Amino acid sequence: MASEDREQRFGELVVHAVDMGHLYDHLMQSRGHNQPVARDDMPDALLTEILHLTRLQFEALCHDLTDPWLSHAATTHLRPVLEGMAQIGFILGHETSTPVGTSQQRAACLALARARETHRAMVAANPRSVPDGNLEEGRRQVRTFEQIHDRVGCPYVEDPAAWPCKETHGGPCRHRELWPCKRVTKPAPRLLSSPTLLRLSATMSFPFTDLEQASSLVIHQSLIDRMMGVTEDGTNALRNATYKERALALAMALSAYGGCLGWVTETVDMPAAGALGRYASDTWKRQDLAEIMADEWDRSDG
Ligand SMILES: [Zn+2]
Ligand SMILES: [Zn+2]
Repeated sequence: MASEDREQRFGELVVHAVDMGHLYDHLMQSRGHNQPVARDDMPDALLTEILHLTRLQFEALCHDLTDPWLSHAATTHLRPVLEGMAQIGFILGHETSTPVGTSQQRAACLALARARETHRAMVAANPRSVPDGNLEEGRRQVRTFEQIHDRVGCPYVEDPAAWPCKETHGGPCRHRELWPCKRVTKPAPRLLSSPTLLRLSATMSFPFTDLEQASSLVIHQSLIDRMMGVTEDGTNALRNATYKERALALAMALSAYGGCLGWVTETVDMPAAGALGRYASDTWKRQDLAEIMADEWDRSDG
């Protein structure tokens, strides 16, 4: 296969992955789920918000993958995709058979922590770089989410022995010490991601925790070693990402984004979730993907 053909066919794989989001839009519109969501409608409002953010990062990752050089940067977008997946998994309670509280309550705790964290970042910034009115708006947002949180009731349990979600040794799960709304002065809802991904790796038998490590900024700093290849005359030169590296990034992102897209869709429309699931598994079954994983594309010279 000529190299232009390979590039075009890889591009088609990427388009197929991105089109999953368009299929979702179509399903939601055609099945009457395109009503606007009120911001205090928990958990739907927060799920919708995080799903949009996750999709943005997924599509940016796919965009990087259409270019053999920029593909090196694709995993930088994988990290926020995984964080989105962890937060959605936490809200919907997919990481454990004994979640704490209801989805509505967990979303309210998380939304409050997110509003506090954003506001705190603005307070800490140089006042000259914060636009007029943003601080007041941030305070208003925090108050709004405090009211929602009060209304739905916080599911946090003071007595550790009564915490429903347990570790294998019997103690309360790690979510307890990181419970988002409890960290009032140092809100950090993203701390929930690692323990949630660890549990999702076990419940879904997929190495999300490994992907979290592989997409970290620490690993990103060592990327230069991968970008630098050895040429035939023994010198070093920058090289493009291989098809296998690109296909792996695509497959990992698709697992994370496809998974959380499916979870959110399930909450509104089961048949639509089934259609998305079939679409995602069609992507996995593509012959081109199998050939790339078997090193057939990178070995042969076009
Ligand atoms: Zn709470
Ligand atoms: Zn837990």
